[in-house]
Amino acid sequence: MVVDTREHDIVVVGCGIAGLSAAVAAQEQGARVVVLERAPLEERGGNTRYTPARLRMKSATELSDDIVDYFAANAGGYLDPSLVHLTSEDSKNWPAIVRAMSFIDPEVVSTFVDEAPKALAWLGHYGIKIEAVPIPFQTVQPRFSPSGGGLAMIEALAEAFERKGGRIVYDTAALNLVQNGAGDVIGVQAIGPRNQRTEFRGRAVILACGGFQGNAEMLTRYIGPKALNLRVVARGSHYNQGEGIRMALNIGAAPCGDYGNWHASPMDPRSAQPEPQIEIYAYGILVNRHGQRFLDEAPGSIDAHRERIAREIFLEPDGIGYAIIDAKIDDIPYRQKLLRTEVPPITAPTLAGLAAKLNIPSDALERTVTEFNQGCGTGEFTPLKLDGLRTHGVTPPKSHWARPIVQPPFTAYPIISAIVFTFGGIKVNSRAQVLNIQGDVIPGLYAAGETMGTYYKSYVGATSVLKGMTFGRIAGRDAASRPSAQ
Ligand SMILES: Cc1cc2nc3c(=O)[nH]c(=O)nc-3n(C[C@H](O)[C@H](O)[C@H](O)COP(=O)(O)OP(=O)(O)OC[C@H]3O[C@@H](n4cnc5c(N)ncnc54)[C@H](O)[C@@H]3O)c2cc1C
Repeated sequence: MVVDTREHDIVVVGCGIAGLSAAVAAQEQGARVVVLERAPLEERGGNTRYTPARLRMKSATELSDDIVDYFAANAGGYLDPSLVHLTSEDSKNWPAIVRAMSFIDPEVVSTFVDEAPKALAWLGHYGIKIEAVPIPFQTVQPRFSPSGGGLAMIEALAEAFERKGGRIVYDTAALNLVQNGAGDVIGVQAIGPRNQRTEFRGRAVILACGGFQGNAEMLTRYIGPKALNLRVVARGSHYNQGEGIRMALNIGAAPCGDYGNWHASPMDPRSAQPEPQIEIYAYGILVNRHGQRFLDEAPGSIDAHRERIAREIFLEPDGIGYAIIDAKIDDIPYRQKLLRTEVPPITAPTLAGLAAKLNIPSDALERTVTEFNQGCGTGEFTPLKLDGLRTHGVTPPKSHWARPIVQPPFTAYPIISAIVFTFGGIKVNSRAQVLNIQGDVIPGLYAAGETMGTYYKSYVGATSVLKGMTFGRIAGRDAASRPSAQ
């Protein structure tokens, strides 16, 4: 193992929004920082590089009001009330078993809510502007994004960091943490080009290297064998292979986040584009490989139900479903926003012909469509808002936009569940310090972004980028103020 000879105060693992926020924030405090990035320069930035970065905000400076409630509703599994009630006390008095418990710490949530607007204002100093995004459909999700999306954030922060002498080492993946005799984390061992091993030392390490969505072994271990039917939503996700989580768990870090779950999104598996979401099923039906419907395709606004629908598709045979629509699709304004794939649909003049092309039983598809059509009611079809045009006597029901599928040509889009990122990660406190299984701080170790376990059950939509910048910045500042342990 070669030891890197350059002197650094902080080693940051990962070059996405969490890692670069940490690196720049630490550098602002005078720290000498090295960032390790698995990807080559031209692909740096992990998931952040590909995200439009919708932010759960009600204005360009304020978070949406529902964030705390949403986190509270998705705080963990069936939490033990005998432990949960202790969290109303000052966290300094929590017993170890509560500090290390797998749930989202309310102090972490309140820090997030307090600090995220400050982090956004701070990013403004680096040229990142928040702007409103027009969305024609009725949504519950936010309408704000940084101009230029995640890529603009990566470029702006990396440029500022390097201009002030920051160092980014590309094509280099951290594998293991290095500790001194007292248990303080003092560096990482990494693997570079041609299997070269190098140790990078500093007085703190910040793990900001994503989840484990790019790691087939971990996906199967935590989500199960059906994880084979998941596909990452963008090229950058392949770089997130879970080492940050694994190396922290290996030295006794406490887990946090829902290890068997992921942020799901319905996508066209044929597409090579980032985030090829298909949501047109809301205006037609969804069938499985057996030609059967299996859910209400439009229980409410599309964005509020997107994740649950993607997860239900995952549970169907081979983890795949097909959106079936007819020629009336032309009535839907802005439909291309619901069809973010570059691959043409599968079409046929008859349902039997469509079934043959999809390799699903034609009699089953025809029966499903006939039953559905018979259940469609009368009423006005209003595509841009919830219209209550529902089915009657059909199982499962469809709650909105239910119109008979009768007008050829018939069209289908295959849909699988994309994995945007995994939920399982590492437990941190509100200073982004990693906690061990005894609920105590592991000195010198921080985690931020996807590596920091946060979500259970349902993703609190449009908060992952906000979380990355907020806790990355907190970790960078805190780590820079840490005295040397060596
Ligand atoms: C297409 C798409 C759309 C999305 N839409 C939204 C949205 O609208 N709003 C929202 O909030 N979130 C969204 N997300 C999720 C969000 O972008 C990410 O969760 C967030 O950007 C993660 O930031 P991060 O810094 O934690 O991880 P990343 O940005 O993934 O960065 C991780 C970095 O670590 C590097 N790395 C990994 N392992 C190692 C290692 N062992 N050693 C060194 N480097 C390593 C990677 O190469 C990468 O640079 C979307 C994601 C995608 C892909």
